[in-house]
Amino acid sequence: MQTLSNPQTTPETTPAFDTTIHRRQTRPVPVGNVTIGGGHPVVVQSMINEDTLDVEGSVAGIRRLHEIGCEIVRVTVPSMAHGRALADIKARLQETYQPVPLVADVHHNGLKIALEVAKHVDKVRINPGLYVFEKPKPDRTEYTEAEFNEIGQKIRETLEPLVISLRDQGKAMRIGVNHGSLAERMLFTYGDTPEGMVESALEFIKICESLDYRNLIISLKASRVPVMLAAYRLMVKRMDDLGMDYPLHLGVTEAGDGEYGRIKSTAGIGTLLAEGIGDTIRVSLTEPPEKEIPVCYSILQSLGLRKTMVEYVACPSCGRTLFNLEEVLEKVRAATSHLTGLDIAVMGCIVNGPGEMADADYGYVGKQAGYIALYRGREEIKRVPEEKGVEELINLIKADGRWVDPE
Ligand code: SF4
Repeated sequence: MQTLSNPQTTPETTPAFDTTIHRRQTRPVPVGNVTIGGGHPVVVQSMINEDTLDVEGSVAGIRRLHEIGCEIVRVTVPSMAHGRALADIKARLQETYQPVPLVADVHHNGLKIALEVAKHVDKVRINPGLYVFEKPKPDRTEYTEAEFNEIGQKIRETLEPLVISLRDQGKAMRIGVNHGSLAERMLFTYGDTPEGMVESALEFIKICESLDYRNLIISLKASRVPVMLAAYRLMVKRMDDLGMDYPLHLGVTEAGDGEYGRIKSTAGIGTLLAEGIGDTIRVSLTEPPEKEIPVCYSILQSLGLRKTMVEYVACPSCGRTLFNLEEVLEKVRAATSHLTGLDIAVMGCIVNGPGEMADADYGYVGKQAGYIALYRGREEIKRVPEEKGVEELINLIKADGRWVDPE
């Protein structure tokens, strides 16, 4: 019989709950000098919005994104001319900056373009709903199995040359399903559903596997978060059943802009990451692409998947607050935001003990009117007048040898 233990346990004796995210095991897929999957940190990516024919503009856009932490940059190639321009973009990056892992987005009936760009980029993204594009027939009432298979055969023939090219060059492919552009045959067979999205991806994966090509990354984006969540979860289940371990690229399409765009992306991407699903992410905002990168990093940092900035733990303040918390947090942040890796707590008081600070490395805590206490972990180190608080916090970090001067 199970016995209940005394709930009045100290932190030391509390049973250790597993708070780490167990990431789904995936195969490593190299994209230029970055690896997606295989236990590597979740990769951040975005897409420039310059016209790919504008070589100098595109090079500048790629560089801008890469310099702020975007690890893989996507460009669109609507025509052969755009595809050829990628050769110049790649060369200019090499001459004026450094190689940046590039992905080319190929859409409608894009075999020829895909074969061209496969020579220049590290990964080609195709959309199964558009790669072999059959115009939907408005008067259609059914899709026979024979018709379904006939197009399936055409897809195989059209995909093969691209797969062989990428396979032989050791490059990657993203099979990027989009809920809004499922092929008519999938819509008729599986409906406008996560199942249709998953089957669409699996059809392409199986063709790749039959040619012994497995440098694949899969995405199943939708603009509705519940649809996107269901599609990725179903994909994971189907891949597990089939013994497939392809990494997943997460994103919510057309998330919009501003606060809601960020929250919507976080709801979709963050939920899956918390379940261990996802190897690379893109937050799609209707804003300059540079704005997407901090959101990606905030999602990853908040889940403990990457540490790219100082983690500030701060209470919301209340009637007990002994100083202007917003102002102090701002001052502490201004002084310490370059100390990536540290956790710093700023608390109005310690109402429930130092554990409230979520075990931050350092704490700045209101103690009595005009005085604050500085903590190292759970230990109070000293009390100082409020106006010396930030300075003394810096001194404490320096004394511990954990300070570096800002660049
Ligand atoms: S830590 Fe203290 S000041 Fe901050 S919200 Fe809680 S009770 Fe209020």
